[in-house]
Amino acid sequence: MKTINRRNFLKASAIAGAGLTLAPNLTFAQGKQSNNKPALLGGRKSSYGFSRWPIYDRTEEKALLDVLHTNKWGRLNGTTTAKFEAAYAKIHGTAHSLAVSSGTSALYTMFGALDVGPGDEIILPVYTFVASYNVVVLNYALPVLIDTDIETFQIDAKKIEQAITPQTKLLMPVHIGGSPADLDTILDMGKKHNLPVIEDACQAHLAEWKGKKVGSFGLGGAFSFQSSKNLNCAEGGAITSDSKEFIDQCYTFHNQGQGGTGTSYATGSGTRGTNLRLTEFQAGLLLAQMARLEQQARTRSENASYLTQLFNDIPGITPAKLYKGTTNSAYHLYMFRYHQSEFAGLSRERFIEALSAEGVPCSTGYGQMNSSDYVLGLAKNKHYLKIYGEKTMKEWVERNQCPQNDKLTKEQSLWFTQTMLLGDRSDMEKIAEAVRRIQKFAKQLKK
Ligand SMILES: *Cc1c(COP(=O)(O)O)cnc(C)c1O
Repeated sequence: MKTINRRNFLKASAIAGAGLTLAPNLTFAQGKQSNNKPALLGGRKSSYGFSRWPIYDRTEEKALLDVLHTNKWGRLNGTTTAKFEAAYAKIHGTAHSLAVSSGTSALYTMFGALDVGPGDEIILPVYTFVASYNVVVLNYALPVLIDTDIETFQIDAKKIEQAITPQTKLLMPVHIGGSPADLDTILDMGKKHNLPVIEDACQAHLAEWKGKKVGSFGLGGAFSFQSSKNLNCAEGGAITSDSKEFIDQCYTFHNQGQGGTGTSYATGSGTRGTNLRLTEFQAGLLLAQMARLEQQARTRSENASYLTQLFNDIPGITPAKLYKGTTNSAYHLYMFRYHQSEFAGLSRERFIEALSAEGVPCSTGYGQMNSSDYVLGLAKNKHYLKIYGEKTMKEWVERNQCPQNDKLTKEQSLWFTQTMLLGDRSDMEKIAEAVRRIQKFAKQLKK
């Protein structure tokens, strides 16, 4: 991000590190409007303390060199990955954890352990990163996309039951943006129909539902440590689970079908496997980064709650709601809705342009995955046609209609990324002020 200078970065990391809470500037918070023009109309652009990412120091450097000098760079001979797994399971309150090469690998490994294959249907939200969809298709299973709850941006759990068929193999909710999906409804549905629940928690490190960490509710949880995520080792992932049997099957799948203690693949789970192991370097880096995780999560939460409070006073800006059971969101994304009617009809694209000019980067987020060329192409894939037949694939396109998601993503959805929540409260105030400024001059900003 262009707007980050060194001074701001140092300020941001110092605050994140020391856990300071700054007194709110109440006059500002109560919406005193400046007479500044928006930057797009020649006004002055503000500077923000948005964090650079990743944040690291000598601790990470030492962690990497320590692994280097052990001469044991892979998990099959080193001990760092196992150490990380124990620590990761502990902070998520699960009995077990398995480190893997990415978040996608975490999902793929769980699918492998459950022997997902051709003919199986997997239920997942339409509003998600494409990786959630890809793991289904990599197994030649049928992705059944569920519409979005427009108020929360999460899977509309009330629409899951009608999508279940005798072919349904598992439910894969995603805690999108790091906020928990409606776990009570989803877990009930899993129990009622005897279907395992796999949580895609790739964006939801330390998020909580009723005081318990997400990733600990279903049979397994998947986490990502890809560069953009709240915990980062460039590329990496983890599975969390309370089931020893399941985590052993996952280990076996991610290790070329070979168990940790020489045992072979669990009966009934097929005999497939591949190499999806994490390296010791990444595990070392993760242990170092994990020491920062809780404080960073707290800073994001505090800033996000404050921003929500400020946004709630701006007509036409609606922060994504959290379900009642949510006791903590990881805020990988700060998601909110834009209503152009409250901005003199200013288009969402022009609003983004104006906000970016203020120094506040903003994105429309995910789109209509169900009607993208990428997904529609599956209905013409020769393997899919062979496995499912033309009629089923035609019906599949119809089954995946998601009108609420269309409405949300074509007109309203916006998000900020997690690093913008790592500065201090005054950044939140400046963001809200920039939005108010745009609202005030909305008519002039229309092209
Ligand atoms: C990032 C992400 C993944 C995939 O994780 P990678 O580590 O990039 O493979 C899967 N699902 C969701 C929701 C994600 O955000």
